[in-house]
Amino acid sequence: MGKNNLSLTDEYRRPRERMVDEQLVTRNIKDLKVLEAMRTVPRHLFVEDAFLVRAYQDSPLPIGHGQTISQPYIVALMTEALELGPQDRVLEIGLGCGYQTAILAKLAGKVYAIERIAALFEKGRANLMKIGMDNIVLKLGDGRLGWPQEAPFDAILVAAYGISVPERLREQLAPGGRLIMPVGDSQGQQLILYRRDPRGMVTSQVLVGCRFVPLVEGTG
Ligand code: SAH
Repeated sequence: MGKNNLSLTDEYRRPRERMVDEQLVTRNIKDLKVLEAMRTVPRHLFVEDAFLVRAYQDSPLPIGHGQTISQPYIVALMTEALELGPQDRVLEIGLGCGYQTAILAKLAGKVYAIERIAALFEKGRANLMKIGMDNIVLKLGDGRLGWPQEAPFDAILVAAYGISVPERLREQLAPGGRLIMPVGDSQGQQLILYRRDPRGMVTSQVLVGCRFVPLVEGTG
Protein backbone atom coordinates (compact mmCIF):
# COMPACT_ATOMS: atom_id res chain seq x y z
CA MET A 1 0.00 0.00 0.00
CA GLY A 2 1.30 3.44 -0.96
CA LYS A 3 1.63 6.58 1.08
CA ASN A 4 -1.69 7.91 -0.15
CA ASN A 5 -3.70 4.76 0.09
CA LEU A 6 -6.95 6.16 -1.22
CA SER A 7 -8.86 3.90 -3.51
CA LEU A 8 -10.27 5.38 -6.69
CA THR A 9 -13.70 4.50 -5.45
CA ASP A 10 -13.41 6.40 -2.17
CA GLU A 11 -17.10 6.81 -1.45
CA TYR A 12 -16.37 9.53 1.10
CA ARG A 13 -14.51 11.82 -1.26
CA ARG A 14 -17.48 14.08 -1.85
CA PRO A 15 -18.51 14.51 1.79
CA ARG A 16 -14.86 15.25 2.51
CA GLU A 17 -14.69 17.93 -0.16
CA ARG A 18 -17.93 19.41 1.14
CA MET A 19 -16.47 19.44 4.64
CA VAL A 20 -13.49 21.46 3.38
CA ASP A 21 -15.59 23.90 1.35
CA GLU A 22 -18.42 24.42 3.82
CA GLN A 23 -16.69 24.17 7.19
CA LEU A 24 -13.13 25.34 6.55
CA VAL A 25 -12.98 27.71 3.58
CA THR A 26 -16.06 29.62 4.78
CA ARG A 27 -14.45 30.03 8.20
CA ASN A 28 -11.33 31.48 6.71
CA ILE A 29 -8.89 28.59 6.75
CA LYS A 30 -6.59 29.79 3.96
CA ASP A 31 -3.45 27.68 3.98
CA LEU A 32 -3.71 25.63 0.79
CA LYS A 33 -1.56 22.85 2.19
CA VAL A 34 -3.85 22.50 5.20
CA LEU A 35 -6.93 22.43 2.96
CA GLU A 36 -5.27 19.85 0.74
CA ALA A 37 -4.39 17.65 3.72
CA MET A 38 -7.99 17.84 4.96
CA ARG A 39 -9.21 16.95 1.47
CA THR A 40 -6.90 13.94 1.36
CA VAL A 41 -6.88 12.22 4.77
CA PRO A 42 -9.85 9.83 5.04
CA ARG A 43 -11.41 11.01 8.31
CA HIS A 44 -13.98 8.19 8.15
CA LEU A 45 -11.21 5.64 8.77
CA PHE A 46 -10.57 7.25 12.17
CA VAL A 47 -14.10 7.25 13.62
CA GLU A 48 -16.03 4.41 15.21
CA ASP A 49 -18.25 2.37 12.89
CA ALA A 50 -21.31 3.70 14.72
CA PHE A 51 -20.37 7.24 13.66
CA LEU A 52 -19.33 6.48 10.09
CA VAL A 53 -22.14 8.47 8.53
CA ARG A 54 -21.21 11.43 10.73
CA ALA A 55 -17.49 11.30 10.00
CA TYR A 56 -17.51 14.54 7.98
CA GLN A 57 -20.03 16.50 10.01
CA ASP A 58 -19.26 19.82 11.67
CA SER A 59 -18.68 18.54 15.22
CA PRO A 60 -16.47 16.46 17.48
CA LEU A 61 -17.42 12.76 17.87
CA PRO A 62 -16.87 10.23 20.67
CA ILE A 63 -13.90 7.87 20.20
CA GLY A 64 -14.42 5.89 23.43
CA HIS A 65 -12.96 6.21 26.94
CA GLY A 66 -14.69 9.57 27.37
CA GLN A 67 -12.52 11.15 24.66
CA THR A 68 -13.39 12.81 21.35
CA ILE A 69 -12.03 13.36 17.87
CA SER A 70 -11.94 17.14 17.41
CA GLN A 71 -14.27 19.02 15.07
CA PRO A 72 -12.70 19.31 11.58
CA TYR A 73 -12.53 23.11 11.84
CA ILE A 74 -10.55 22.94 15.09
CA VAL A 75 -8.11 20.43 13.55
CA ALA A 76 -7.61 22.75 10.58
CA LEU A 77 -7.30 25.89 12.71
CA MET A 78 -4.69 24.36 15.04
CA THR A 79 -2.72 22.94 12.13
CA GLU A 80 -2.75 26.22 10.21
CA ALA A 81 -1.64 28.19 13.27
CA LEU A 82 1.49 26.03 13.59
CA GLU A 83 2.76 27.18 10.15
CA LEU A 84 4.44 23.84 9.49
CA GLY A 85 7.22 23.37 7.00
CA PRO A 86 8.36 20.10 5.40
CA GLN A 87 11.41 19.85 7.68
CA ASP A 88 9.58 20.55 10.92
CA ARG A 89 9.57 18.10 13.81
CA VAL A 90 6.26 18.17 15.64
CA LEU A 91 5.22 16.88 19.05
CA GLU A 92 1.54 16.05 19.54
CA ILE A 93 0.04 15.38 22.96
CA GLY A 94 -3.18 13.31 22.81
CA LEU A 95 -2.99 10.92 19.86
CA GLY A 96 -6.56 9.70 20.40
CA CYS A 97 -7.86 8.23 17.16
CA GLY A 98 -4.85 9.56 15.22
CA TYR A 99 -6.67 11.85 12.78
CA GLN A 100 -4.94 15.08 13.82
CA THR A 101 -1.63 13.19 13.74
CA ALA A 102 -2.19 12.21 10.11
CA ILE A 103 -2.97 15.81 9.14
CA LEU A 104 0.20 17.05 10.85
CA ALA A 105 2.24 14.32 9.18
CA LYS A 106 1.08 15.48 5.74
CA LEU A 107 2.65 18.89 6.36
CA ALA A 108 5.64 18.28 8.62
CA GLY A 109 8.84 16.27 8.40
CA LYS A 110 8.17 14.04 11.38
CA VAL A 111 5.45 13.79 14.01
CA TYR A 112 5.94 12.41 17.53
CA ALA A 113 2.60 11.68 19.17
CA ILE A 114 1.93 10.64 22.78
CA GLU A 115 -1.22 9.08 24.26
CA ARG A 116 -1.85 8.15 27.89
CA ILE A 117 -4.74 5.65 27.49
CA ALA A 118 -3.43 2.27 26.29
CA ALA A 119 -6.61 1.28 24.43
CA LEU A 120 -6.69 4.57 22.52
CA PHE A 121 -2.98 4.32 21.81
CA GLU A 122 -3.63 0.95 20.12
CA LYS A 123 -6.62 2.29 18.26
CA GLY A 124 -4.75 5.35 17.03
CA ARG A 125 -1.85 3.21 15.92
CA ALA A 126 -4.15 0.78 14.07
CA ASN A 127 -5.93 3.68 12.33
CA LEU A 128 -2.65 5.24 11.21
CA MET A 129 -1.46 1.85 9.88
CA LYS A 130 -4.49 1.87 7.56
CA ILE A 131 -3.23 4.95 5.75
CA GLY A 132 0.40 3.87 5.87
CA MET A 133 2.29 7.08 6.65
CA ASP A 134 5.94 6.55 7.55
CA ASN A 135 6.87 9.81 9.28
CA ILE A 136 4.98 9.21 12.53
CA VAL A 137 6.39 7.90 15.81
CA LEU A 138 4.07 7.00 18.70
CA LYS A 139 4.57 6.63 22.43
CA LEU A 140 2.33 5.51 25.29
CA GLY A 141 2.86 7.78 28.28
CA ASP A 142 2.19 11.07 30.02
CA GLY A 143 2.45 13.76 27.39
CA ARG A 144 2.83 16.51 30.00
CA LEU A 145 6.43 15.37 30.27
CA GLY A 146 7.01 15.79 26.54
CA TRP A 147 9.58 13.64 24.72
CA PRO A 148 12.94 14.89 26.04
CA GLN A 149 15.03 12.46 23.94
CA GLU A 150 13.63 13.96 20.74
CA ALA A 151 13.44 17.61 21.84
CA PRO A 152 13.54 20.36 20.79
CA PHE A 153 10.47 20.53 18.53
CA ASP A 154 9.60 23.15 15.92
CA ALA A 155 5.95 22.83 16.85
CA ILE A 156 3.91 21.32 19.68
CA LEU A 157 0.17 20.63 19.55
CA VAL A 158 -1.66 19.81 22.77
CA ALA A 159 -5.11 18.31 22.14
CA ALA A 160 -6.33 18.50 25.76
CA TYR A 161 -6.79 21.48 28.07
CA GLY A 162 -4.93 22.59 31.15
CA ILE A 163 -4.75 25.74 33.27
CA SER A 164 -1.36 26.52 31.73
CA VAL A 165 1.24 25.03 29.40
CA PRO A 166 3.21 22.29 31.22
CA GLU A 167 6.73 23.51 31.97
CA ARG A 168 8.38 20.55 30.22
CA LEU A 169 6.55 21.27 26.99
CA ARG A 170 7.57 24.91 27.09
CA GLU A 171 11.19 23.84 27.58
CA GLN A 172 11.06 21.44 24.63
CA LEU A 173 10.05 24.11 22.13
CA ALA A 174 12.88 25.16 19.78
CA PRO A 175 13.78 28.83 19.30
CA GLY A 176 11.29 30.09 16.73
CA GLY A 177 8.91 27.24 17.65
CA ARG A 178 5.12 27.40 17.92
CA LEU A 179 2.94 25.69 20.52
CA ILE A 180 -0.85 25.52 20.48
CA MET A 181 -2.98 24.42 23.41
CA PRO A 182 -6.48 24.93 24.82
CA VAL A 183 -6.00 26.79 28.10
CA GLY A 184 -8.73 27.12 30.72
CA ASP A 185 -10.84 24.93 32.99
CA SER A 186 -13.88 22.65 32.77
CA GLN A 187 -16.13 25.69 32.22
CA GLY A 188 -14.41 26.61 28.98
CA GLN A 189 -11.08 27.23 27.32
CA GLN A 190 -9.33 29.38 24.79
CA LEU A 191 -7.08 28.08 22.08
CA ILE A 192 -3.78 29.88 22.59
CA LEU A 193 -0.86 30.04 20.18
CA TYR A 194 2.55 30.55 21.80
CA ARG A 195 5.73 31.47 19.97
CA ARG A 196 9.24 31.16 21.25
CA ASP A 197 11.36 33.90 19.74
CA PRO A 198 15.03 33.26 18.93
CA ARG A 199 16.07 34.82 22.25
CA GLY A 200 13.91 32.32 24.12
CA MET A 201 11.05 34.59 25.09
CA VAL A 202 7.48 33.40 24.63
CA THR A 203 4.61 35.47 23.27
CA SER A 204 1.00 34.37 23.09
CA GLN A 205 -2.10 35.02 21.04
CA VAL A 206 -5.68 33.95 21.75
CA LEU A 207 -7.33 32.34 18.71
CA VAL A 208 -10.85 31.23 19.71
CA GLY A 209 -12.95 29.89 22.55
CA CYS A 210 -13.17 26.09 22.53
CA ARG A 211 -14.07 22.94 24.45
CA PHE A 212 -11.61 20.11 24.88
CA VAL A 213 -11.15 17.16 27.22
CA PRO A 214 -8.66 17.67 30.08
CA LEU A 215 -4.95 16.94 30.01
CA VAL A 216 -4.68 14.21 32.63
CA GLU A 217 -1.71 13.29 34.79
CA GLY A 218 -0.08 9.87 34.46
CA THR A 219 -1.11 6.92 32.31
CA GLY A 220 -4.19 4.72 32.46
N1 SAH B 1 -6.55 14.63 18.75
C1 SAH B 1 -7.15 13.37 19.04
C2 SAH B 1 -7.63 13.20 20.48
C3 SAH B 1 -8.32 14.35 21.11
S1 SAH B 1 -8.96 13.94 22.70
C4 SAH B 1 -8.29 13.09 18.12
O1 SAH B 1 -8.73 13.98 17.42
O2 SAH B 1 -8.74 11.95 18.12
C5 SAH B 1 -7.53 14.22 23.73
C6 SAH B 1 -6.65 13.03 23.90
O3 SAH B 1 -5.62 13.40 24.81
C7 SAH B 1 -7.33 11.80 24.51
O4 SAH B 1 -7.05 10.68 23.73
C8 SAH B 1 -6.69 11.69 25.89
O5 SAH B 1 -6.59 10.38 26.37
C9 SAH B 1 -5.33 12.30 25.63
N2 SAH B 1 -4.63 12.78 26.84
C10 SAH B 1 -5.13 13.43 27.92
N3 SAH B 1 -4.15 13.70 28.80
C11 SAH B 1 -3.00 13.21 28.27
C12 SAH B 1 -1.64 13.16 28.72
N4 SAH B 1 -1.25 13.67 29.89
N5 SAH B 1 -0.73 12.58 27.92
C13 SAH B 1 -1.07 12.04 26.71
N6 SAH B 1 -2.35 12.04 26.24
C14 SAH B 1 -3.29 12.61 27.02
